[in-house]
Amino acid sequence: MQASGRVLVCDSIDQAGIDSMKRAGLAVDYKPEIKATELVAGVKGYDVIIVRSRTKITKEIIDASDAKIIARVGVGLDNVDVKAAEAKKIRVINAPEAASTAVAELAIGLMISLARSIPRADAEAKKGNWIKKELMGTQLSGKYLGIVGVGNIGRNIGRMARSLRMNLIGYDPYPINKEFVGETGMIVTDLDTLVESADFITCHVPSTPETKHMFNAARFAKMKPTAYLVNTSRGEIIDENALYEALKGGKLAGAALDVYEVEPPTNKLLLGLPNVISTPHIGAQTKEAQELASTVIAEKVIQILRGVI
Ligand code: NAD
Repeated sequence: MQASGRVLVCDSIDQAGIDSMKRAGLAVDYKPEIKATELVAGVKGYDVIIVRSRTKITKEIIDASDAKIIARVGVGLDNVDVKAAEAKKIRVINAPEAASTAVAELAIGLMISLARSIPRADAEAKKGNWIKKELMGTQLSGKYLGIVGVGNIGRNIGRMARSLRMNLIGYDPYPINKEFVGETGMIVTDLDTLVESADFITCHVPSTPETKHMFNAARFAKMKPTAYLVNTSRGEIIDENALYEALKGGKLAGAALDVYEVEPPTNKLLLGLPNVISTPHIGAQTKEAQELASTVIAEKVIQILRGVI
């Protein structure tokens, strides 16, 4: 069955989703560089607006549009004014599971990078500095991994970490999937106990008023001085100034960050520390995750326009 409608794609997305929407009969305009002002003026007449991370769908854009669907090719909906969309009865959709393997693999990579100082070893070796004696690392096997937020990504990294023979501790204010807990032997506990006990902590929570600065000076004070913190979720959950002080004061051994309170990050002091590893929000940045997110969104758009879902 064919679908009909006009689709405006405002950010760069994988071609696979664009191709399937066209095959289904949709008229797709691909404008990955479109500016906010052009969008307010040009959004009328489109049934579907598709974004990734660059474009912010504000109330002003929503008020100017007569769209039926706003779609985010990704997990969170931070760049869409969902309330304004719902007030106009616009369906807001995303692709929540598409990036979960990519993000979990990055978090594992960051943990190993911290434990073995891989970025520093690489930089020094390339400068001709043989600093082997300074690079005594630590193993992941047998260590306790604290997973904060045991949703799609948290469970994925939990399974990967079990295959590295790590022990799991988990915290989530909502019930954690029982099958997963049984399969991995995760010890489910409160956040402070997790923070006090874990050798590695990895965060996989959404950005909400409750999670803002959940990692602050008081929490860093509870961490083992040998522990490492990895954040591939949302920057707001860490008080970056407190993290800087805690790392300087030896409250924890190191941190790896893919996300920041402000992006690109402005906290040069924090990023300048030798025990901080920084990546530019690349959690979902794999060919496979982008292709999956794009095709999942295309399929949902087609089904909604056909009236199937
Ligand atoms: P999810 O919704 O499947 O899981 C989030 C979990 O956090 C849920 O189990 C929820 O109950 C839990 N949670 C909510 N409030 C909490 C709190 N106060 N304390 C502890 N846990 C809490 O989401 P997901 O797909 O696993 O994504 C997790 C995070 O990763 C999101 O913030 C998402 O935006 C982020 N993410 C980042 C990238 C990247 O590029 N770095 C890519 C994809 C997703």
